Parts: sequence; C-alpha cells; structure tokens
Amino acid sequence: MIPKAEASSDSKGDVNIMRVILLGPPGAGKGTQAAEIKAKYDVAHISTGDMLRQNVKDATELGQQAQKYMDGGKLVPDELIVKMMRERLKEKDCEKGFLLDGFPRTVPQAESLDGLLENMNLSLDAVILLDVADDIVVDRLCGRRMCRQCGEIYHVSFKPSSQGDKCDKCGGDLFQRDDDKEQVIRNRLKVYHDQTAPLISYYDEKGLLRRVNAGTSSSSVMAEIEALVNEKVAE
Ligand code: AMP
Repeated sequence: MIPKAEASSDSKGDVNIMRVILLGPPGAGKGTQAAEIKAKYDVAHISTGDMLRQNVKDATELGQQAQKYMDGGKLVPDELIVKMMRERLKEKDCEKGFLLDGFPRTVPQAESLDGLLENMNLSLDAVILLDVADDIVVDRLCGRRMCRQCGEIYHVSFKPSSQGDKCDKCGGDLFQRDDDKEQVIRNRLKVYHDQTAPLISYYDEKGLLRRVNAGTSSSSVMAEIEALVNEKVAE
C-alpha cells in the first residue's frame, strides 16, 4: 500500500493502490465482497474461478484441461493456474492494484505468487481471511444460483431474483453451478481444509493475515474489510 501522504483520493475511495488477497472457503462471500471493493476502490478484481469458467465457456485448451477438475470440485493443477496468473498480473488494470479472489489456493501457488511479485518489484499489503463455519457454507452454496449470461449471483432464500429463474439484471437464465451441488461442496470444503487452509499460517507468519468473521451479513463483513483496508492506508 502506498503511504497515505502519497495516496491520491478520488470519488471511488481513499486508496488508489492496494494489493490484497481474499482468502477463505468456498461460500465465504469472497466474490460478493470483491465486487464491492472493486467498485469502491477501483482495483482489478481477479477471480481465478471466473477466469477458468470463461475458458471453459470459450472451450479454450486451458478450459478443456480445467473442466474435469472443476466439475469434481478438485483443484486445477498449480502449473496451469500459475501460468494463467503470470499473464493476468501483467495486464494494465493491475497497475492500480488488485484483489485476488480464489488465488492462491495452495502453498506452491503462494510461493509462485511471491516469485511473480518479486520479479515485478511489488509486494502484498494484506491477506484478508473470511472465516466461516462449514455448515453455513453448505447452506449458502446449495441455494446459490448464477446468471448464465452476466454472472450475477443470487440465492434462493437470501437473495432471490424477483423474476424466478431469470436474472433481474439482464433476463438471462439462472442456473446452479455443478460445483454447488451438496456432495461437490463437501468435497470442495475438504479440499479447502487440506490444501488451502495451510495458507493461513503461511501468511500469518509473514505478518500479512487479517481475520474477518464472514458468518454474518454481507454488509457487516464489508464494513470490517473496509476498516482493515483503511487501517493499512493509515500505516
Ligand atoms: P471458485 O469460483 O473460486 O470457487 O473456483 C471454482 C473452481 O475453479 C474450483 O473448485 C477449482 O476447481 C478451480 N479453481 C479456481 N481457482 C483455483 C486455483 N487458484 N487453483 C486451483 N483451482 C482453482
């Protein structure tokens, strides 16, 4: 994060450069919070899940390789993800800072990210852990629906579309992601605990970890995240 004295303010927020990782299990609300932070602070929101789904939709070589892992709730191999991120971090919009959502997901990915950032002479400002119990995740994800056209996210109980199975924003069809079915969710949680949770101590040891209770409403989670971001700016 650039020091406050050097940071320029604009209508979108107080900070113009921040490099943050949002960490947490599937269903912790990383995507929802990231979209809000992006709107407020005008940083690049990089979701590896969204990038992979786009590749699957476009039937790229990467998409074809990734799909079988994604459908089973397994992680796509590190080398494919790191290659994709190496290119993504070079893009122009990242110059204003970025918010990583769903990456890194393993210790080797975190180590590769350290190397990529070092080569670019950049560093991370914070890793925000969205902490939430497994049962809450299962309830949230089983009811989640996504617009096939614009990607807007709904929930059958907490955020239903007023048009039933059509998107309020664009009228597209709403669908349940294959990886939001209960058995797959249980598997994704196991993968999270086995492979991603070790990143909590990885970043804690580097003094970068900040915890947020993500079992509450999305607005109070956002307020906690903002407080953390503002605290970093004040440092
Ligand atoms: P997400 O939308 O972040 O829940 O990601 C959906 C799926 O994409 C995951 O279950 C994985 O199969 C795959 N995926 C996303 N990000 C990564 C990553 N950093 N490493 C490996 N697989 C990933």
